Amino acid sequence: MIDLSNVSKWYGKFKVLDQCTARIEKGEVVVVCGPSGSGKSTLIKCVNGLESFQQGSIVVDDVSVGVAGKNLPTLRARVGMVFQNFELFPHLSITENLSIAQIKVLGRGKEEAVDCGLKYLDRVGLRTQADKYPGQLSGGQQQRVAIARALAMNPVCMLFDEPTSALDPEMVNEVLDVMVELAQDGMTMICVTHEMGFARKVANRVIFMDGGTIIEDCGKDAFFGDISARPKRTQTFLSKIL
Ligand code: ATP
Ligand code: MG
Repeated sequence: MIDLSNVSKWYGKFKVLDQCTARIEKGEVVVVCGPSGSGKSTLIKCVNGLESFQQGSIVVDDVSVGVAGKNLPTLRARVGMVFQNFELFPHLSITENLSIAQIKVLGRGKEEAVDCGLKYLDRVGLRTQADKYPGQLSGGQQQRVAIARALAMNPVCMLFDEPTSALDPEMVNEVLDVMVELAQDGMTMICVTHEMGFARKVANRVIFMDGGTIIEDCGKDAFFGDISARPKRTQTFLSKIL
């Protein structure tokens, strides 16, 4: 479903991604973790074409994005992404936030887009908030709207970049609950997160990155298993977050 093959990227002379290779099957949930600056955000932004890369290839659901960036618009429309800071349009109502990309990118009619948006708003438990503006919602609610907005595009997979790290602690679970449901419904997901409870609950695999390299890519049970048998860098990281 998502195939990364030897993806490398440089910012000037700085190699931010170093030969990253990973394969994510349909319906799999993969958690990506690692220290700050290890390249997690850059890696997943390459998967939906928000960042370019200089070497390697990425294939998402049979759409190939090489270094030339061919097929980028197709890719962007198929891959949903949720960011740390929600990135809702502040001057648009929740309904408008949910429908604008469906209209502009997918060419849906307004009525269809609104209906579809409201369906997903209902799914994240916020049907009553449709006429409000983002500033009138809590951070947790805004993030759930952002998830609904991405789902309304009928993506083949969803990428999450630390979706709960900007939230007050009491709002983290309402967002994680939506993500758990999505995972259990069979959505293919790559989640950059340090919420290891989430990883233990729904991840199939955990990828650990450091210095732009995928240090480990293993099943959840192996990842949370015997820590003493792990690469040193994973041990150091896990000892800080577990
Ligand atoms: P964090 O956990 O803090 O979000 P991350 O693992 O997501 O970190 P990235 O944001 O992917 O890390 O950044 C990886 C490295 O690339 C960092 O060293 C960062 O400073 C560098 N970097 C990111 N964007 C740019 C840019 N536009 N120009 C130059 N360097 C950049
Ligand atoms: Mg990041």
